[in-house]
Amino acid sequence: MRPDILNPLFAETETLPGVGSRLAKLFSKLAGHKLIDLCWLLPVNVIDRRYRPKLNQAEPGHVATLKVTVAAHRPGANSRHPYRIDCHDDSGELELVFFHAREDYLKRILPPGEIRLISGSLDSFHGRLQMAHPDFILPPSDEARLPLVEAIYPLTAGLKPRVAANAIREAIQRAPDLPEWQDPAYLQRQGWKTWKASLEKAHNPESKDDLSPLSLERSRLAYDELLSNQLALGIIRLNQRKLAGVSRKVPGRLAELAVSSLPFSLTQSQQTALAEIRTDLADESRMLRLLQGDVGSGKTLVALLAMLDVIESGHQAALMAPTEILARQHYKTIQPLADVMGISTVILTGRDKGKTRTALLEQIEHGEAQLVIGTHALFQESIKFHRLGVAVIDEQHRFGVHQRLSLASKGKAIDTLVMTATPIPRTLLLTSYGDMESSRLTEKPPGRQAVDTRTLPLERLPEVVQAVGRALSNGARVYWLCPLVEESENSDLAAAEQRFQALDQAFPGKVGLVHGKMKATAKDDVMQAFAEGRLLVLVATTVIEVGVDVPEATVMVIEHAERFGLAQLHQLRGRVGRGSGKSACLLLYQTPLGEVASERLRVLRESDDGFRIAEEDLKLRGSGELLGTRQSGFPEFRLADPVAHSDFLLAARDDASLILQRDPQLETERGKALRVLLYLFERDSAVRYLRSG
Ligand code: ADP
Ligand code: MG
Repeated sequence: MRPDILNPLFAETETLPGVGSRLAKLFSKLAGHKLIDLCWLLPVNVIDRRYRPKLNQAEPGHVATLKVTVAAHRPGANSRHPYRIDCHDDSGELELVFFHAREDYLKRILPPGEIRLISGSLDSFHGRLQMAHPDFILPPSDEARLPLVEAIYPLTAGLKPRVAANAIREAIQRAPDLPEWQDPAYLQRQGWKTWKASLEKAHNPESKDDLSPLSLERSRLAYDELLSNQLALGIIRLNQRKLAGVSRKVPGRLAELAVSSLPFSLTQSQQTALAEIRTDLADESRMLRLLQGDVGSGKTLVALLAMLDVIESGHQAALMAPTEILARQHYKTIQPLADVMGISTVILTGRDKGKTRTALLEQIEHGEAQLVIGTHALFQESIKFHRLGVAVIDEQHRFGVHQRLSLASKGKAIDTLVMTATPIPRTLLLTSYGDMESSRLTEKPPGRQAVDTRTLPLERLPEVVQAVGRALSNGARVYWLCPLVEESENSDLAAAEQRFQALDQAFPGKVGLVHGKMKATAKDDVMQAFAEGRLLVLVATTVIEVGVDVPEATVMVIEHAERFGLAQLHQLRGRVGRGSGKSACLLLYQTPLGEVASERLRVLRESDDGFRIAEEDLKLRGSGELLGTRQSGFPEFRLADPVAHSDFLLAARDDASLILQRDPQLETERGKALRVLLYLFERDSAVRYLRSG
């Protein structure tokens, strides 16, 4: 349970004075519904009002605070003309300007003959010093109410800046002093203050420098968050380790048989990865391993060999793919091989209904089905395994961590292997997959040809169509991608249909179209026709993205390549260059091309290394999109930016592992404070693994 000391921070924003349900909704949209959410909302800008010149020395173009005497009010001739108020000090004059003014209101706050403190942006108009709509107008006795340095917060429509700032200030005032969870020596070395003091300082910047993610107070808060992340992952990992596992040490006869039946031998990378997986399987603890490698690097084969080991140990193996098409493809390649070895393989997807489904479920439940291939249908409650030993999950980021855990809960001591073709940069691996070990396939099977990658503006589309025509007459098969952008699915679909019609006219009878709104069976039929060469051009939205295997395809055309992420483009490109033929990838972009987009395309032209591309991608756009979660930023972080704070991330990882070595249950004085930290960052699910303290 969350410690009481944190209660004030987890109160609803509606408990703040002046915040009703309307404002609470706006805050929810902006940050969240609790006070802590407001505390994490850091200023994005700062306005310095400390410039306080005499009027004859005041420079236009600056924000200034001025002490003036109010003189004449000059209402506009009609409502289109501004209302002007003359002011002066003993050195010069200033004109205040108001549009759509209310005279009675202005007379009240700026009474003629009185002295007022005024703060806002200075302008000059025909040589006269002006200020339009000052930010502050106060009697000199209220000077204390003027924020000389004002923090500016991100806003959402309908929320007034000062209202937001007041609520945030109130939330911070209610923040309690918390016990120190950081190592005192480390704190001192960094020059960091306490959590509360850092929070206060972060909300009271004095200059733009203070807004830097590397300012002392922002660094401290970010480090707190990174430490909570690393600690939570470390706890989950320790716990996974402890869960009863089964040692699956087998001679590996089935795998040996499978390898000897292949017309090629394993790459060095594949052998290393397989050895790592086998060590995990043989170990008493549970396996939780990520197998990374570019499309076509041979992950599926490695996974199959691992599954054969598990089957040999007398357990079932499950392989789960993100789409129906992929599940079928896996089945098609694996089933014949398994059949030769007398292993019964079944496929279960959402499409199986009625009697077929019941029969399949029985085979799985009674253990006759040794190798089960499927889609997320495998997650469902109704599916029971006889003795599931290993769950292999293809393309991790299409599923969530929760789904990963839910398949692992389908039996006792299930080992998990996750395959991903989107190489995950080191920093992300640490922050999102820190609970997993990782194996990397860095080589490609021999004989793969580099894909000739070119970028060209969309205006040259007619040339591309001609080039495709030439390729077709040489026997090529061509993917043609029209991206779907979610906001306007229908109009994008229309674009894909239009492209299909145009290409179908150019190459009658040879072109097929697949898109997300088609029925699965219809989609499969088209894909099948393309795979078998009855269709030679496949126009698609992004359905082929995840890994359909047509080795004969040698040309990939991508329209609006600028709309894709780098890692995604790389994956798409991996669809060609799988056979022995020379392959090409044509990236068509809309002009003008932005800086980031052109950089992305350049990286792609230059590199074919998925791991390098993933790192570049991270640098270019933040990681959210890479994992398909958010447009930008790191979804699991409020304050930390694993790129800017990468050094802190590494330190937090070491710190967390040291802490858990010494105090795995977080029971010492510091351990107790660290529990508070975990709750503060809402890593409650990790604390649940600890003995209640
Ligand atoms: P991934 O799952 O990483 O996309 P696959 O396992 O599907 O890659 O392999 C892609 C293709 O390469 C398959 O046709 C597979 O049979 C073949 N392949 C796998 N390993 C090797 C190897 N060591 N040598 C040659 N071909 C291989
Ligand atoms: Mg694959």
